Amino acid sequence: MSRRGRRPADDPSLPIVSLVGRPNVGKSSLFNRLVGGQPALVEDMPGVTRDRRYGVCEWVGTRFRLTDTGGLDPGASGILGAMRSQTLRAVDEAAVLILVLDVKEGITPVDQEVAQLLRRTGKPVLIAANKVDSATREPSMAEVFRLGFDQVFAVSAAHGRGVGDLLDATVAALGGAASPELPVEKGGRTAEETEGESAPIRLAFVGKPNVGKSSLVNRLLGEERVLVHDQPGTTRDPIDTPFTWQGREFMLVDTAGLRRRRAIDTLTEAVSAKMARDQLARADVVALVIDAQNGATAEDAKLASFIEESGRAALIVVNKGDLIRRAEIDGKVAAVREELGFMAWAPVVVTSAVTGRGASEIPKMTTEVFGQWCRRVPTSELNKHFEEVVTRRPPPAGPGGSYVRLYYITQAQTSPPSFFVSANYPKAVGLPYRRYLTNQLRNIYGFEGSPLRLVLRAHKGKKPVRREK
Ligand code: GDP
Repeated sequence: MSRRGRRPADDPSLPIVSLVGRPNVGKSSLFNRLVGGQPALVEDMPGVTRDRRYGVCEWVGTRFRLTDTGGLDPGASGILGAMRSQTLRAVDEAAVLILVLDVKEGITPVDQEVAQLLRRTGKPVLIAANKVDSATREPSMAEVFRLGFDQVFAVSAAHGRGVGDLLDATVAALGGAASPELPVEKGGRTAEETEGESAPIRLAFVGKPNVGKSSLVNRLLGEERVLVHDQPGTTRDPIDTPFTWQGREFMLVDTAGLRRRRAIDTLTEAVSAKMARDQLARADVVALVIDAQNGATAEDAKLASFIEESGRAALIVVNKGDLIRRAEIDGKVAAVREELGFMAWAPVVVTSAVTGRGASEIPKMTTEVFGQWCRRVPTSELNKHFEEVVTRRPPPAGPGGSYVRLYYITQAQTSPPSFFVSANYPKAVGLPYRRYLTNQLRNIYGFEGSPLRLVLRAHKGKKPVRREK
């Protein structure tokens, strides 16, 4: 390809991604890395020797123009001052901004100022933390996160490390597509689906026979405050019932069987387990119903373990509260909590399908736990507390007494909230310590009613795989 031939970098229909940063942080190397074999076009600007370069980058089917700016030093005059106006133009025309930092040198006041400037544009900003040439340099990433941006990528322009992830995120920022880094859990929903206020919350009632599931459903749907939608004759999902409570849309999963009371006491355990699993797969929130008189049994504990496994949000409904003396209720609830100890994250509501007491707590708590389940904590916010949490109780030693380091944490996914922790020896971090970390996440952020996932990952560099045209 020659410069005089087709000039793809001139194609005005392509969106622009600008690399911004102070001089010598490695923008040019990163530019070359990203543009790869494509020829860079140097824009002719009289009077300025170093100026913007344009190149075309293609990644997983998305093409964009990449600009490399001379270097932005807000305090500088002269040649740097000229570069500043160049850079500002590049910032202005860009759809996505990549702020390049040098982690070897650390974050300087200039970096902070540039970060401010980029933030004020309101455009998507990705951070390329450059010169992360080996895992040993990861600690300085915490400093990078303190700049307050979520999308931080440890890269090495020299070695190509992390460049693939940066490109994935760039393409996602350009297209608004979900980053391939964040796989959707099987049966789960994408953030767009769950975070959208409009999507109905899918609620399933599970529990042993005769605990009062059908009665609760009938009570709930019979409540004046609940608006049951007319089901068209041939609906796609005749077993589900849509309803509205306080303006919030719900979908009651698998209600047909529950509304038509059936004798299902005779089902084998395997069949009822299968039914429960199928129900969970179709729900966002699960109400585990327990008979207040009998309390939670081994069978309930098994259902609770299915719920935990499924990653669904949940609440525990202690029903038939009318059969228990008021003074006994707290004791009953405490006993249920104890029996289902590993579902300690789920709130408990006490109801009576007969008197209607507590019934409206169900849609109310469902809405709350759903909100927690879909919640995303920004990386910058997570890392504000992470260092302190790790310092307060450092992880146990790794292989051969080696020092286990935990570098930073990011929330990779919602529904359920899932976190990645970057570590030098992820395998050395056992269950008790992982539990400590999830408990700390709960202490700080709540996440009531939602299971949490925590994955430790070695911070290995991914080689960028370039798609040739
Ligand atoms: P399911 O098998 O879980 O759907 O349970 P049902 O809704 O069929 O209820 C089983 C039995 O418990 C029925 O006789 C209901 O009338 C009774 N029941 C359900 N909820 C309550 C409640 O809150 N209080 C009392 N006293 N009885 C209830």
